[in-house]
Amino acid sequence: MCLAEIRHQRSAQRCLQTALGGPRAPHAYIFHGPEGVGKEMLARAFARVLLCEHPAKRAPDSEEEASIAAGGLIIDACGKCEDCTLMSAGSHPDFHLIYRELIEFHPDPKVRGRKALDLGVDVIREFLIAAAGSRPLRGRAKVYVVREAERMNVAAQNALLKTLEEPPPDTYIVLVTSSAARLLPTTRSRAQMVPFGPLPPEFVCERLLASEYELTGAEAQFLATVSEGRLGPALESAADELHEVKKHLLSETATLEPGRAVSWAKGVEEAGNCLAEAMSAARSEASQTDLKRHALGQLLSALAYAFDDVLRLHLGPGELRAHADQEDLIREMSGRLDPDRAARAVRCLAEAEANLHRNVNVVLTLEGLGAELTDLLHSAPTGVEGR
Ligand SMILES: [Zn+2]
Repeated sequence: MCLAEIRHQRSAQRCLQTALGGPRAPHAYIFHGPEGVGKEMLARAFARVLLCEHPAKRAPDSEEEASIAAGGLIIDACGKCEDCTLMSAGSHPDFHLIYRELIEFHPDPKVRGRKALDLGVDVIREFLIAAAGSRPLRGRAKVYVVREAERMNVAAQNALLKTLEEPPPDTYIVLVTSSAARLLPTTRSRAQMVPFGPLPPEFVCERLLASEYELTGAEAQFLATVSEGRLGPALESAADELHEVKKHLLSETATLEPGRAVSWAKGVEEAGNCLAEAMSAARSEASQTDLKRHALGQLLSALAYAFDDVLRLHLGPGELRAHADQEDLIREMSGRLDPDRAARAVRCLAEAEANLHRNVNVVLTLEGLGAELTDLLHSAPTGVEGR
């Protein structure tokens, strides 16, 4: 993909155009921002320009391009040369993706036997530092893109400092991370920071509808909203069928009756287990406990969006943001919950979700939450209490 074809990341694009248009592009970059918003895709497109035999300068041809151009021009790969063709095919010999699991290909059998829990010094030394010392195979440059750079441990980051500071000629290093704060200050200070933001929900929705998952418009809108502009997680949730699991859970929650908090909590836990099971297919390295907490977190967040939709019906233009596929249910809930109680329900769900990540007792948290939601759904509107 060409650099300028990647949309909705203007700040990052502007940084890269400025770097490419300058007298000497920096050799080290940190692409940082939320997970699943196109950082690695943009890193590949950037590498394509750096490796292209005849990078082209042209006038911007849209308002978005004009806003990212440096010196009034867009610099991009030609798309025609052999380097561009090799990059498109994913087989350019001077493009190197560095990731944890490369440890399985380490020449030392002792190292190979270790688990790829973090991005360790052995992988960084062998596949980045040592490799960067050799000449490019096709002559123009070498590009190293480090996936999940925040998982480099301290030893790996320290080992990389010198290469970041003074890389061998024509060597470019892009550290990709969703958590730049976890990189050492010494690493951060040696690279050009390139910021990424969330994607517009309409764009995420469009891409979900074009995906293999056969979603309805309302389901795509739900996934786009709860993923908060992160296309990667939205597609994962589509694969896990989060939209299906939440439908049942929302019905159960809307019809919560007094005295039923414990069985509601059991239902939530079962829905979480079901979702965690779906998730484990694609994330075999994650522990069952982590997956379950993650799944429950997603479900509570989906429910929080339901009460947020109730609030929108009361206060806003009346359009549902997340749960348009269960509009009747949300309308029915809004008849029973005034804005104050809807806002309190959102807060309760957010607190319970935060507690899940603090290793508290899951069952007790869910039962407590069920009791609070029951109270909110069944008590008189604020201001009438106690009369
Ligand atoms: Zn080219």
